[in-house]
Amino acid sequence: MTPRRKTRRVDVGGIGIGGDAPVAIQSMTSTYTYDIDATVAQIRALARAGADLVRVAVPDRRDTQALPSILEQSPCPIIADVHFHYERALEAIEAGVHKIRLNPGNIQDRGQVNRVIDACKERSIPIRVGANEGGIVERKDKDARAVEKAALDRDYHGEIVRIMSDKIEEYLRIFEARDFHDVVLSAKSIDAVITIDAYRAISERFDYPLHLGVTHAGPPETGRIRSVAALGTLLAEGIGDTIRISYAADPVYEAEDAKELLCSLGLKLRTEPELIACPTCGRIEIDLIKLVGEVRRKLADIKVPVKVAVMGCVVNGPGEAEGADVAIFAGKGKGIIYVQGEQTRTVAEADMLAALYDECVAFAARVERGEAKLHSGDVTIRPPDPLPRRDGSIPLTVSSPD
Ligand code: SF4
Repeated sequence: MTPRRKTRRVDVGGIGIGGDAPVAIQSMTSTYTYDIDATVAQIRALARAGADLVRVAVPDRRDTQALPSILEQSPCPIIADVHFHYERALEAIEAGVHKIRLNPGNIQDRGQVNRVIDACKERSIPIRVGANEGGIVERKDKDARAVEKAALDRDYHGEIVRIMSDKIEEYLRIFEARDFHDVVLSAKSIDAVITIDAYRAISERFDYPLHLGVTHAGPPETGRIRSVAALGTLLAEGIGDTIRISYAADPVYEAEDAKELLCSLGLKLRTEPELIACPTCGRIEIDLIKLVGEVRRKLADIKVPVKVAVMGCVVNGPGEAEGADVAIFAGKGKGIIYVQGEQTRTVAEADMLAALYDECVAFAARVERGEAKLHSGDVTIRPPDPLPRRDGSIPLTVSSPD
């Protein structure tokens, strides 16, 4: 991992973006913002799932009118997403939002953009300025458009990255002319490689904090891969101060996946259980995939980062689960549970989920009382005698199919 690149720091309702602040997780509600109850419920769900900041769309006056009530009930800072109407930005600022997302290219009148900048400056509200790949090519000046189109025909990848980076500089001039520097930059593309190169380019060129994201990533099944490929690469290079993973799905998945990505890269401390599970192979003798899903859901209410392993056999499972605080090795209708290397009990298949959960709860309580230490480095799980297979044969130790 490359150390985090130093950027300016902005403050969004008490959450830092850039500088030494941890990478912040963002998501966006999919409700109509004027539906206050639904929007607040989704903001709370997102905050529970790990979002530090939540953005809401404010296309209409009735949306900005809902903001005071939403802000009063929100557990985290709120960002107003403004597209074409500068009045919505002014209303959102007046309502007390903590950040504005604004694309100066979408607002024709420079005087209107300046009014928003001045209102944000007066209240120390940061603005995110984005140059997304879609629609970034010049629209107003026909000659400039023709030149850009010709360049894109020659080298789409290189030229689109250059155009995105130049467009950000053009926008920044508007903000800097008014001595406004509480800016966060973004340069999203639907393409992971363009996203990586665009952010590399703007991180070389500017020291403003960066909001990472892949735009229109699609449903979680495919968008997850595309987003992690782009954001994971950039974060590992030390680029990125806040991230939004975006899916065509319930936004709770966005916050959950963003949190897992940051935890996996060591950019965020785990506060909840970490689940290890074997990849399954022809040696399993229970429905391990079902059990893993059930364990994952059940562990969600434990707020201690216990490392839990669910393994399909007692042959290779113990070696692969080494370091786990609580582990279960399943086979032939039975499961053997270990807590930090000590075998605690053997349970029937039907009782595996409840017994494993009980052991996790008990272990988490011991950690909270200071009686046990998480991930104690010297945990070695010694395999028990292999359980015979259904046909009575004893399985041999073989190498893992990982
Ligand atoms: S050998 Fe590995 S993958 Fe196969 S069941 Fe055992 S723990 Fe799971």
